[in-house]
Amino acid sequence: MNKKRHDRDADVLIAGGGPAGLALAALLGKNDVKTLLIDKKAPPPPLREISPEGRTVAMLGRSLDILEKAGVLALCRPHAERIEAMRIIDDSAHGFKPPFETLFRAREAGREEFGLNIPNAVLHSALYEFLKNNKNVTCLFEEEIEEINLRQGAPDAEIRLAGGAVFSAPLLAAADGRDSAVRQQAGISVRDRDYAQTAMTMLISHSSAHNGISTEFHRPGGPLAVVPLPDNTSSIVWVEKTEDARAFLSLPHKRLETALQERLNGIYGDIRIETPPEGWPVISRTATRLTGARTAILAEAAHVLSPITAQGLNLGLRDADDLAKTVTESLQLGLDPGSKSVLDRYESRRKNDIFIRTRGVDGLNRCVATPSKPARMIRRAAFAGLNRVPAPLRRTVIDRILTLPHGTSGTRSEQTHGTPPYA
Ligand SMILES: Cc1cc2nc3c(=O)[nH]c(=O)nc-3n(C[C@H](O)[C@H](O)[C@H](O)COP(=O)(O)OP(=O)(O)OC[C@H]3O[C@@H](n4cnc5c(N)ncnc54)[C@H](O)[C@@H]3O)c2cc1C
Repeated sequence: MNKKRHDRDADVLIAGGGPAGLALAALLGKNDVKTLLIDKKAPPPPLREISPEGRTVAMLGRSLDILEKAGVLALCRPHAERIEAMRIIDDSAHGFKPPFETLFRAREAGREEFGLNIPNAVLHSALYEFLKNNKNVTCLFEEEIEEINLRQGAPDAEIRLAGGAVFSAPLLAAADGRDSAVRQQAGISVRDRDYAQTAMTMLISHSSAHNGISTEFHRPGGPLAVVPLPDNTSSIVWVEKTEDARAFLSLPHKRLETALQERLNGIYGDIRIETPPEGWPVISRTATRLTGARTAILAEAAHVLSPITAQGLNLGLRDADDLAKTVTESLQLGLDPGSKSVLDRYESRRKNDIFIRTRGVDGLNRCVATPSKPARMIRRAAFAGLNRVPAPLRRTVIDRILTLPHGTSGTRSEQTHGTPPYA
């Protein structure tokens, strides 16, 4: 690695300019940390040029504080919708019994909103627009990292881009997604679970108002979430067993619309599918550690969760926030941000949150998907109980449990596999 060498180009190199990498760059840049971010894709388009898309992220609780700190919450708000209430409809005996329903309002916990539902492209572009004006951050798009050099005891991590340029810094932060090459190079293994499900995503418009309520139907094939967006539109995350999802995705537009409409129990009136439906494999993948030689991994490079839980990027933004804090503190104290002691601090800050969320989501996934009738009855009784418990307990549910939603069981392995979307 000695071609076109740029020594000590930054305090932190970030591999990956998805939402997690861009958020980390924004947080570091605001703290005067010299940062170089590299992504192989094209840069996000300006906010004003974004067209509607089917994928959104529900940003809950602390994520809003982090987006505010990263300087982009105000840019996102005009394109996003507040989530003021969450409704769970247990429709596991679809067609036979009346579905059971429970509703939690943010104001029960003294809040105006649970969070914001933001189109992915909006969040991505807002972060990039903010970064363009930050003198501490350089973003290189359409540049693929081809070689990664992480030596125990070396003063820097080094990367070589496909074009030949070499960059080095004391710390390499890996936000390069679920198939992270940096994670693999750092020798960090993962635990995988394949739920044999596919999440179908699309945007719909509807004749009845959503009233700021995010609704999740628990159904035998998997959960179906309808999350509010502005102007009587909502984003759909509809999980089915993969073979069923493939069949739905191959239906003509009108028939898919009818199939979805039937599953929404009339709550949204007449619906129209506004964007081409896409399919995303539902897996969980958890890294066994968060750090290696001069490396910290975050977001989907460290953990992939069932999408329906709306936890993935929320957890990833908390990684970015805690990593930015750890690095900033170390630099302010004159410490090496890629040293083992600093990396250990990041790992200890993150490991409990990641452990609790990934295990909790997985457990709930399997509980909701179980075909066992007694287990389904217990679940329904638990929901019925929630409608009667005193307010303080409901507040606990809102704070600790409700943001851990649902999916299905699966098989476990230690392998890494690619997970491209198919439409
Ligand atoms: C259907 C669905 C719905 C979801 N809904 C929610 C939700 O409501 N709330 C929530 O919190 N989360 C949700 N998630 C999860 C969320 O979308 C992910 O957590 C998030 O997009 C992951 O972001 P990331 O930055 O970690 O990874 P990515 O977005 O995958 O970014 C990785 C980046 O690294 C780059 N890269 C990779 N390798 C290289 C290389 N060698 N050189 C250069 N660049 C490289 C890639 O080009 C890419 O831009 C959902 C997920 C799905 C599938």
